[in-house]
Amino acid sequence: MNERDIQFLESAFKKYYYDHISEIPVPDDMLHREFGYQKLGVKGMTRHIQVKDAGQMRVMLVQAVPSDVYCSNSYYSFPSLDMKEKDWRGADLVFDIDAKDLDLPCRRDHVLAVCETCGRSWMAQEREEEEEEEKRRERGTGEKRAGDPNLECSSCGQAGRVRPKSLPCKKCITASKEQVALLNRILRDELGAGPDHMSTYFSGNEGFHVHVSDPKFRELDARARADLAGYVMLSGLMPEALGVYKASGLDRAELPDLGQKGWRGRFAKAAFGSKAKRAEVISELSKVPAGAAYARFEGIIREVSGDVGARIDAQVTGDIHRIFRMPHTINSKSGMLKAACAVDADSFDPYVDAVVLDSDETVPVECGCPVKFGLGRERFGPYKPGESAEMPVYAAAYAICKGFGRLAAADVPRR
Ligand SMILES: [Zn+2]
Ligand SMILES: [Zn+2]
Repeated sequence: MNERDIQFLESAFKKYYYDHISEIPVPDDMLHREFGYQKLGVKGMTRHIQVKDAGQMRVMLVQAVPSDVYCSNSYYSFPSLDMKEKDWRGADLVFDIDAKDLDLPCRRDHVLAVCETCGRSWMAQEREEEEEEEKRRERGTGEKRAGDPNLECSSCGQAGRVRPKSLPCKKCITASKEQVALLNRILRDELGAGPDHMSTYFSGNEGFHVHVSDPKFRELDARARADLAGYVMLSGLMPEALGVYKASGLDRAELPDLGQKGWRGRFAKAAFGSKAKRAEVISELSKVPAGAAYARFEGIIREVSGDVGARIDAQVTGDIHRIFRMPHTINSKSGMLKAACAVDADSFDPYVDAVVLDSDETVPVECGCPVKFGLGRERFGPYKPGESAEMPVYAAAYAICKGFGRLAAADVPRR
């Protein structure tokens, strides 16, 4: 990112923090949390910071003008010391749901390959085809670059700086929200998390975070959190756990039923849906040899695996030394806010509700984005390579943060 773009983003972020500083909530028990931040154009993260009160947090936001702000879910006696000396005292439970991990078929229509050097962007899919073509050409000329991960940008020639950037569509957001709702049901109904201790946030880019501050989970260690993530995901489920065996086939007494509590009831609802359908499956499994019943049941597990477990990132939940993006701060991957939503995120529209940067002023942006995007109730694009467009600050920031835009020459006339 060039210096001019960095200055533009910093001034847009600073204005947001300055104008909204009193609305940014202070994390609970902040004195015992570790804070950290990053700045544009500066490598690495400044972390192990203890923030004593709201005043100090506000000074950090307005004076350091961070691109990204983080705060631990863990509580420590001495948050500013090295990890070994911090004295871990517990942590909130955090879950991460990312549209990227859902990998819907529409993704190929809105993932761009962006060259971080010159800002040129392609449809990633088109880029894959280009790479294939490049490999074919290289094989023909005997060059040995096929499969090289440091492929060059075909516009500026720089190698190794082409990155995928997603502009998530409505379908991806809706599917992520369904996962949030499923996760919240599991937390509430099966694990007894108190609704007053649960908060849902849009991450500011491609997903949602669910934070659970219920004291009953606070002291779980990393291992117990990993187990809990496995329970939520209901991953690696084997027919044996549900009463179907390779050698002996179905044991009816062990087959999950719709009225059962916990994951067994969750599985039964997803797999059978009704008592009649469950009876049908029992009759079907009883008629065939044990091996065939086992294989059939493996198929049922596969079919429902996407509905029965919440698609969270287990590593995030299991990590107790991570610092997470702080709620109500800006995400420099998009220039949007990590914003609080209602628990199930139902009516939340990130492209309206998390768009917080200035909408009054416009700037000229050179923006070669091949797909349309909607932000703040306006539509933008598609733009041809090198095309200049006048955009509100929030949209310019989005284009620059995603890497496919940069401020155009200052002499471009303003609207
Ligand atoms: Zn390039
Ligand atoms: Zn999509």
